[in-house]
Amino acid sequence: MLAKEDLAKYPFLQKAAAFIEGRNLSISDLAGPEFSNVVRRAVERVRSSILGEEVTTETSDPETEILSYPLALAFVYASKITWLVNRFATSEAKRCEEELRKEPISKLEEIGNASFGWKVEANPISLEWEKLDFRLGVWQYLEVAPQFHSVSWKLTNKYLNGGHVYLKAKDFARLLAENLKLRIVRRASEEEIRKFDLPQLLMPHLEGLLKLAEERKGTFEEEAPQGLVDGAIPPCIQAIMGDLASGKSVSHMARFAITTFMINVGEGVEDVLRRFGNVADFDEGKARYQVEHIAGMSGSRTKYSPPKCDVLRSFGLCVNPDRTCSRVTHPLRYYRLRLKDQRRNGGVAQGAKGGGGRGSA
Ligand code: SF4
Repeated sequence: MLAKEDLAKYPFLQKAAAFIEGRNLSISDLAGPEFSNVVRRAVERVRSSILGEEVTTETSDPETEILSYPLALAFVYASKITWLVNRFATSEAKRCEEELRKEPISKLEEIGNASFGWKVEANPISLEWEKLDFRLGVWQYLEVAPQFHSVSWKLTNKYLNGGHVYLKAKDFARLLAENLKLRIVRRASEEEIRKFDLPQLLMPHLEGLLKLAEERKGTFEEEAPQGLVDGAIPPCIQAIMGDLASGKSVSHMARFAITTFMINVGEGVEDVLRRFGNVADFDEGKARYQVEHIAGMSGSRTKYSPPKCDVLRSFGLCVNPDRTCSRVTHPLRYYRLRLKDQRRNGGVAQGAKGGGGRGSA
């Protein structure tokens, strides 16, 4: 049974929408003094997304948390700033994914069935190489999965049976969260939302958020998207990926370079660990600790950047440099340039190399 705390964590639940409708409140009503906590929390959610801070769920007062979500969305939509919508959608999706990953399988199944009209079954099967926890219809999977750039999400890399896709619990959590993100973003282009204006009483809060958004805009535009994009990965990183895929044990610097690179382009800890899965001396516990430390999730809370090209070169890790390499001094700069090229060309960047092995420097 889903409780109020669950509605606070997962605003995409049909019950969460019903709870809000049941209160019969308009956005203007939320400007009243009795809802000052709701306004504070809504502003905080949007602020955190602008600043790139982690948004966690506040379950101590579930009602405030539930009501703050539509108000935060109202601020974001009223801003009419596309990147802010994307940013907010991403931070809410991350928050939900974190929560979903803590849920037991039975609860995750219940959430899956009570959200986007999906038919989800906890149907554990053990394949030779992995254990899968859920199955859902192929078409439902395809509503969301094409958003992911990693090849592991391609239908051809998934176990299919009887019109269903089978997934691990953590992948299912990611799929649900990504669907939330998609829905937030897509709703922004609907006529009703495009015409939406915030009630005058709430405008001072929106103005504060717009000011902050303006200050942060430049930083955001320079940031990389979520996840690895094929064709934008620099040759040095591709070479390390190739080595890891073939089970070679790579140097400490190579491990640091690929981990920091992946984390900085928005890949998760699990995605990074999966890259190391073929290496003979792979110790998951130790590797997880190191990756989480590099991602700033533990220890000093500092997120590390990949080394510059100069450093990689001095360690013999600058291999098969291409034309784009001559324009950059940092692998992340390479990645951003290639992404820009891709956008300009409307597809895969020209001259991209495959994810192959090591060549000569
Ligand atoms: S020049 Fe830089 S980005 Fe290009 S392969 Fe060498 S280290 Fe990587």
